[in-house]
Amino acid sequence: MHKSGTSYWIYKAGDAWGICDVCGFRYYQSQLSKRWDGLMVCPSDHERRQPQDTIKSVKEKIYVENPRPEAADKFLAEGEITESDL
Ligand SMILES: [Zn+2]
Repeated sequence: MHKSGTSYWIYKAGDAWGICDVCGFRYYQSQLSKRWDGLMVCPSDHERRQPQDTIKSVKEKIYVENPRPEAADKFLAEGEITESDL
């Protein structure tokens, strides 16, 4: 182990250096992970995809089922309905 306390420059067998696609800092490739957008990022730049991006909308039913055409207008002749019919 290096005396300086930082592991930034320490060689790790089988672990190559990688550059974070977002911040540009150097990390071991084992510390980088692929984000939802395909970028290889460090742990602090790793973020979940915004859940609203993949939201499924509910289909709206904007029609009336089993419709029928409107009936023809019926006009009353004068005197067809009298006061006694009411
Ligand atoms: Zn980063």
